[in-house]
Amino acid sequence: MIIKAAWVVPIAAPPIRDGFVEIAGQRIVRVGPAEALKAPMRCDGASREDQAPVEPPDAGTPVCDLGQAIITPGLVNPHTHLELTAYAGMLKPAPFWKWIEKLVVLRRKSGRRERESRGATEGAWQSLRAGVTCVGDISRENVSWVALKDVPIRKVCFVELLSLADQPPRDPAELRTAVAEVDEDELLTAGVTPHAPYTVSSEHIRAALSLADEIGRPWCTHWAETREEVAFLRGDERALPWFLGRLLKQCGVRSPASPPGEYLQRCADGLRPGLLAHGNYMDGADAHQIAAGGHSVVYCPRAHAFFGHEAHPFSRLRAAGVRVAIGTDSPASNEDLSLLREIQFMGRNCADLPRADELLRMVTLTAAEALGLERQIGSLEPGKAADLAVFPCAAETVDPIDELIERAPLPVAVWVAGRQVV
Ligand SMILES: [Zn+2]
Repeated sequence: MIIKAAWVVPIAAPPIRDGFVEIAGQRIVRVGPAEALKAPMRCDGASREDQAPVEPPDAGTPVCDLGQAIITPGLVNPHTHLELTAYAGMLKPAPFWKWIEKLVVLRRKSGRRERESRGATEGAWQSLRAGVTCVGDISRENVSWVALKDVPIRKVCFVELLSLADQPPRDPAELRTAVAEVDEDELLTAGVTPHAPYTVSSEHIRAALSLADEIGRPWCTHWAETREEVAFLRGDERALPWFLGRLLKQCGVRSPASPPGEYLQRCADGLRPGLLAHGNYMDGADAHQIAAGGHSVVYCPRAHAFFGHEAHPFSRLRAAGVRVAIGTDSPASNEDLSLLREIQFMGRNCADLPRADELLRMVTLTAAEALGLERQIGSLEPGKAADLAVFPCAAETVDPIDELIERAPLPVAVWVAGRQVV
């Protein structure tokens, strides 16, 4: 099928006015200006010299002309907890520790697994309806992959290790068992996530990252999210709130007495790089260590504001060479799961803003790289998966990327692996 629109934004190349994307089966076959589809062929089969070598479509290839619209790769959300969609809108903006205490109370209410499974499904559909075709999703008790398996969204289902939890996985053996349970398919990849450096011991973090390395799957973790966490990592064992203290002692979680960058380097030394959610409190030295390790950081702009954190160090991280992608975190600390609204929010609220094309890359190709999926998704290129989002645009649009960021429209159509799902 050939899908035509007023604009095609391939990410890996500049926007194309009056462009097309041709898909066959689950893949993208060609991307280019619609004009080139009519290019006369020379008798030796070569194309005109001033145009890319595009052959005219087969007579039977269906053409879908979407008119005033912008085709982008499906957006990629590298950090969310879809199961927490069950608590969307229930918690008010508050500092992180106050919020998490209240969240724990909500999660303890009976019927949790069913409620959170439904939340995961709902969150996945909410994502698709916002043009997000791939999520890096964390599930506490490994329930989300079951709920998400039948939803036509691409997903890395990160299985969470949390030492102080009352349910598995709480140690590397339970983590290994849970990861093995995940029934992967074309759209579903298993991943590994030790929750955070203040809830999992260094030995268990290392074991979790080693498991990811051994099975060749991505890993993520929450890192340097709060000031108190960083003070704890640097050696102040009383920096964390009182309700964590006793539990941490029971689980053998001690301060590593290192700054977050150095500690990560120790935990991940010699292993594949991973994805760090938040990284809100990283200084220049941390940034250089994260860059040297090849890790990615996911900044969640609206959740960041929800918790009232200080300005995020994304410029410092990027300047040091760290790959910074944009995510949403969960609907329990955000208004919705729209990535365009995240970069719109950045445009309106952040200083030292990356260029518009870089912002869009942070929710597509860079996010795909953070999840280790850049060879499959994140840009419109022949051979990649046919994951597309199509957004409406005004007839007078001259810059489709500015239009997407300023208006953050909802998509009119979404394809995942060549199948139209919205
Ligand atoms: Zn998170």
